[in-house]
Amino acid sequence: MYDVAIIGGGPGGLSAGIYAARANLKAVIVERGLYGGQLQNTLDIENYPGFENIVGPELSERLYNQALKHGVEWKYGDVTGVVLEGQPKVLELEGESLSARSVIIACGARPRPLGAPGEAELTGRGVSYCATCDGALYRGADVAVVGGGDSAIKEALLLTRYAQTVTVIHRRDALRAAGVYQDRAFANPKIKFMWNSVVERIEGDARMSGVIIRNVKENSTQLLQVKGLFIYVGIDPNTGFLKGSDILDGGGYILTGLDMATTIPGVYAAGDVRAVSMRQIISAASDGATAAMNVYDYLETL
Ligand code: NAP
Repeated sequence: MYDVAIIGGGPGGLSAGIYAARANLKAVIVERGLYGGQLQNTLDIENYPGFENIVGPELSERLYNQALKHGVEWKYGDVTGVVLEGQPKVLELEGESLSARSVIIACGARPRPLGAPGEAELTGRGVSYCATCDGALYRGADVAVVGGGDSAIKEALLLTRYAQTVTVIHRRDALRAAGVYQDRAFANPKIKFMWNSVVERIEGDARMSGVIIRNVKENSTQLLQVKGLFIYVGIDPNTGFLKGSDILDGGGYILTGLDMATTIPGVYAAGDVRAVSMRQIISAASDGATAAMNVYDYLETL
């Protein structure tokens, strides 16, 4: 029996693990992918205090090693179901179940698909959600990015290292991204913008050959000939295993107080999976620490 089972090994889950283990709690992190989560797909982190610049895989590895050093147990597995009410809490994994006196849900979020015709068929054949992973495949090519948030603009900047041109397709005429990224993007001669534009259809058979773009102001369409299309239109929470639970809001994000507690005693959440999250590495880490410290207080009451 664990004191705390942490679902997800991104910055939120790993920070929770570090704080829990240092409080002498028997902690396990259950993760279905690589440690670090979305952080693994991020290059050039320039806003994490203490590091002027660090790449996501390195920060992930540092967090992972730190958690293990403090005694956190690491378990690969996909959580398919949970019993959260009462004691003990139970996590159902394929072929086994885990019992714990408390749970921290830090299972993050994943890129949201655009929903355009051709997108599903051409994913991995021109359509991508990860410039860090796939950008180098487009050396010297013309590519496009969809979205106007931090992710879209950061990744457009990254793509300029490889691509000849990067066209940002955005549905309105102003970016949502932070000013520092906007300034860099506007100053980069490789980045072009298609304002008030949406992807109507993605074309291609064996590989993507281009994108039909609709200008929503003029109601006109045009073919943009690009070899790669990188989609960054937001993220969705990984909470399928909690479907129907009262702790979720309408969008599937977990509702918590500032103490990271849900309405179920002994159940906490941290990071991007929370309804009110800044979706930053530092805020996920902060959530994880807060959740673990409140888990400690909760366990004292049992
Ligand atoms: P986001 O901030 O939600 O931005 C999504 C973008 O996609 C918006 O520009 C939005 O347009 C556009 N969009 C949404 N649905 C669309 C659709 N159906 N068709 C076309 N465009 C669509 O998502 P994100 O950029 O992935 O960022 C998620 C969170 O992570 C944010 O809180 C962000 O600050 C954070 N983040 C931070 C960093 C960092 O370096 N600090 C890096 C990455 C992400 P509108 O603007 O018109 O709504």
